[in-house]
Amino acid sequence: MTARTHDVAAITALGLVVLIWPVGEITLSTALLAILANQIGGIAPDIDQPTAPFWRNLPIGRVFGKTIDKLLGGHRFLSHSILGLVLFGFLAHWLLIFLQPIMPHVNISLVWRAFMIGMLSHLVMDTLTKEGVPWLLPIPFKFGLPPLRALRVTTGKIGETGIFAVLVALDVWLCSTHYNSLVTFLHQHIAR
Ligand SMILES: [Zn+2]
Repeated sequence: MTARTHDVAAITALGLVVLIWPVGEITLSTALLAILANQIGGIAPDIDQPTAPFWRNLPIGRVFGKTIDKLLGGHRFLSHSILGLVLFGFLAHWLLIFLQPIMPHVNISLVWRAFMIGMLSHLVMDTLTKEGVPWLLPIPFKFGLPPLRALRVTTGKIGETGIFAVLVALDVWLCSTHYNSLVTFLHQHIAR
C-alpha cells in the first residue's frame, strides 16, 4: 500500500479504538503527539524500503534507506512481522521514556499506544495486498487476505484506491455520527 493509504488507515484505526475504549481526560499535548505518533507508526514498517517517502524526504535518506533495508532483511521482512512490532514497540517505549523529561504534560503511555495502533494498521493493510505479510517471522511465510492471491489488492492500483475511498468514507461517517461526543470531548476532556 502507498503511504497515503497507510496514513488514513492509521488514523481510522486510532479513531475506532478511541470510540471503543474512550481515553477520558487527556492534555492537548498528549492528543497532538498521539496523532503524530500514530501517523509515524502508520508508515514506520516501510523504513525497510529505500525508496519510501520516509527516506526520500531526508537529505541523504536514500543512503540510510539502503542500509536499513539490508539490516532489516529487505522489504516486507522484519519490520512487517509480529517480531518487528515487538522490536519497534520496545524502541518507541524507550525513546518516549528518554523524551519524557522534556514533555512533562504528555501521557507517554497513550502516545505509545497510538504509535502501536498505527504500526498494526500498516501490517493489516499490507496483508490485503498481493505480496502479503510475513507475520510469523522467522517462519518465512507471507500471509494474505483473502487467502487467494488473485483476489488481493495491487499497490497503487484501482483496488487500493477503492480501499482508500472506503476508509475516508468511514472516517466521515464516524465523525458525523459521533459529532456530539467529539465536540464534548474537545470541550471537556482536553486539559492543558
Ligand atoms: Zn509496508
